[in-house]
Amino acid sequence: MTFNALNLHENILKAIDTLGFTEPTTVQLQAIPKILNHQDLIVMAKTGSGKTGAFSMPIIQGVDIGKKPQALILTPTRELAVQVEKELKALAQFTNIQSTVVYGQHSLNTEIEQLKKGRQIIVGTPGRVLHHMESGHLKTSDIKYLVLDEADRMLDMGFIEQMIKIIKKLPVTRNTLLFSATMPDAIQRMSRSYMNNPETIALDSDTKTVDAIKQGYYRVENNEKRTQLKRILTVYQPKSCMVFCNMRTEVDKVNDYLVRRGFLSEAIHGANTQSKRMRTIEEFKKGEIQIMVATDVAARGIHIDDLELVINYDVPQDKDNYIHRVGRTGRAGQNGQAITLVTGNDLYTFYEIEEHAGARIDEYDLPTDEEVEKRQSEMSDYWEKKREERLRKRELHKKTSVPKNTKKPTSSRSSHQKTHPQKNHTREDQQKKHHTNPSASKHKPSHPADQNKKQGHTVQEKQHEQKPQIVNSEPVVHKTEIPQETQKKKFSLKALFKKEKK
Ligand code: AMP
Repeated sequence: MTFNALNLHENILKAIDTLGFTEPTTVQLQAIPKILNHQDLIVMAKTGSGKTGAFSMPIIQGVDIGKKPQALILTPTRELAVQVEKELKALAQFTNIQSTVVYGQHSLNTEIEQLKKGRQIIVGTPGRVLHHMESGHLKTSDIKYLVLDEADRMLDMGFIEQMIKIIKKLPVTRNTLLFSATMPDAIQRMSRSYMNNPETIALDSDTKTVDAIKQGYYRVENNEKRTQLKRILTVYQPKSCMVFCNMRTEVDKVNDYLVRRGFLSEAIHGANTQSKRMRTIEEFKKGEIQIMVATDVAARGIHIDDLELVINYDVPQDKDNYIHRVGRTGRAGQNGQAITLVTGNDLYTFYEIEEHAGARIDEYDLPTDEEVEKRQSEMSDYWEKKREERLRKRELHKKTSVPKNTKKPTSSRSSHQKTHPQKNHTREDQQKKHHTNPSASKHKPSHPADQNKKQGHTVQEKQHEQKPQIVNSEPVVHKTEIPQETQKKKFSLKALFKKEKK
């Protein structure tokens, strides 16, 4: 079926043609005639179904060139608000209908100027929309369409009260269109109270990720990814967690950072020997380490039951890798959680991934200082005990497996190594190899500018690099590197952070 059969105005059809949409999607086919017919609708459709077009096309047709707002579209996030308004503009490009977008952290003055100019369609996040309503800049008397886009996500994000306040200020004669991937009770109650005999359109789910996996993302700045990772891990305190990075160098940097912050973490990537990889995976499976930082390639084919948390430290470059990474949790009927750190540069790729996965990925608020501190104080010494157990095991292993003809340390060795002859143990050699491999880990001294550096090795970074010293297989960390929160804590991380020998 073509768009021509949907009774849309020729100027809207022209825009549809310009955008290259050849035929309506299922949701458009079902919703457009009903919206044109002023029917209230509950549409269960996900991002990627063409839902924005489904409400935008008939709304552009249904409003007139009057100066007051006639349609209000509420979205849970500023990104979605911007995206929706962009599509509206494109669809209205051959009409006289104009739109504007309002959202938190955007310039209030710019928004007020736009509102004063008389825009027919307003897209925005609930808080900012309510602000403009209450300050009198957003007139509601002529509103005839209200769209609640991703209503369930707005509910999750705590916008329900603001949504209801907004609804109560609108004319009762309006059309209400509610789009939601799921129908929690609160949304159903709201639809009964504030909608007029709504009809439901439910589309078949084509979700590619398992429903048992909760998926979310955090918006982060590029230069704070590691710090936020640490804070997130502190708050979640997972029993088992895989952290995915796109590059080997990043895997090592992230792993070194986590180890220095006291996490029981190991890295796996293609530059490790097969035996090191196998050993790490085995330890992880047995629950002897908490975190495994990995590249996609190194983690391929690994099956871990009960994996609690997957963190995409980097947004995967390949959409299918997202499905693979996330699919490592939520196996065998277990509930799992997948988290992605998304920078401004990643946003577009991430939306495409969301569409591709066909699943809802919620935006989460980053942990506050209070939450981090509270969780840190609640932290049990579970991993501390595991660490001690692991060290004991290794000591025992070393004692029983040091070959008789072990070479004496040569003069070229560091004084630290001289005092630790057992460093000739295979595992240590492998770790040394791993750390001295140019594409592997570089333990860098803490540097105030560290956080602001671009990822990847720069010449200056190389100059700052120093070989790690190994004590009981854990990199030694200079005491001053212990973050303040960790220093406050009384658990025995101190044991890990031994003084660097000169
Ligand atoms: P949405 O579900 O609204 O986020 O839309 C997902 C993507 O599909 C957006 O990039 C739209 O521009 C695009 N889209 C919407 N309607 C159509 C259509 N009829 N044919 C092809 N692409 C479409």
